[in-house]
Amino acid sequence: MFVRSFFLVVASIVAFGGCAAPESASTATEQPDVAATPDPDWPQFSIPIDCTLGEDCFILLYPDRDPTSGVVDFSCGTQTYDTHKGTDFAVADATIMARGIPVLAAAPGRVLRARDGVADDRVDSNEERQSLEQRGIECGNGLVIDHGDGWETQYCHLRNGSLAVEPGTEVERGTVLGLVGMSGLASFPHVHMSVRHEGQVVDPFVGLADETGCQVDRRSMWDRQLEYEPTGLVRAGFSDRFPNANSLWNGEHYEKELSTNIDEIWFWIHRYGVREGDVEQFLLLDPRGGVVTDYEQTVEEFSLSSPSAVGKRNTPDRPILPGTWRGEYQLLRDGEVLIDIDREIEVR
Ligand SMILES: [Zn+2]
Repeated sequence: MFVRSFFLVVASIVAFGGCAAPESASTATEQPDVAATPDPDWPQFSIPIDCTLGEDCFILLYPDRDPTSGVVDFSCGTQTYDTHKGTDFAVADATIMARGIPVLAAAPGRVLRARDGVADDRVDSNEERQSLEQRGIECGNGLVIDHGDGWETQYCHLRNGSLAVEPGTEVERGTVLGLVGMSGLASFPHVHMSVRHEGQVVDPFVGLADETGCQVDRRSMWDRQLEYEPTGLVRAGFSDRFPNANSLWNGEHYEKELSTNIDEIWFWIHRYGVREGDVEQFLLLDPRGGVVTDYEQTVEEFSLSSPSAVGKRNTPDRPILPGTWRGEYQLLRDGEVLIDIDREIEVR
């Protein structure tokens, strides 16, 4: 039997600059997602991205409803960062982004302003962030649509050169505005959508409300029920090195097979919204079905998104065997399974 005497385990909590800012935060009590009644006087918004939530895209960050330096999203979770003004509809990485994911108008209206020409560079340092802020291009390539009666939506971080509309363009619900990108103050590929009424930020999961915080009456402005899923999988796979946030969001680690000559083999998970106390279970099996790693760990710190992985070194006495390697992973919270996946890779 293959010996499990050597394995490495790393759960790297890599904070990322949201649209920009990385902060962990304590977890508040979550409010159940109750059906909200729309207000007939407000616009209804469809999601601004051409994909299926929960399948090929996901909401990574919500508007921050805490007026202080703390953070809270509409459902009393903390999947946001301080002063975040919009909803971030994300795809898994720059490889998916490169396929060309359309950004769509959330409601009919007229384009007021638009900008293109900003590079799709992932921001991962304070220097890059400050530079973008000084130049006033945090939104990157984006646009604002006027929906009448004081309502506006803004779309940010579109792909460089992809804008399909200009000021004055009349759009319908679903009109293609451009493509999902990573321009401006963005550290993952997504479209950030902000809603404003008479210049004031509105959380579309709540609607117009005088109260801040999450214990408020909610009248969703979305044209469908959107599930609140503050924790989930971005992507998972195998690699010959431990992936970091930069390599994952930039779309690396798509290996279909690995060589027996590699120094290490890693089974990795890129997940979002893990919380202190969550339990992660890893199982790594070699081609003979031998258990290389059977490991459980408790998450120590909330993170907006970060990778976690188990791996094995290639040594003369315990080499990385050719054949099909298999990884299994579960994320559990209070006994409930939130992520349950398995992956395989060929080693030749
Ligand atoms: Zn955002």
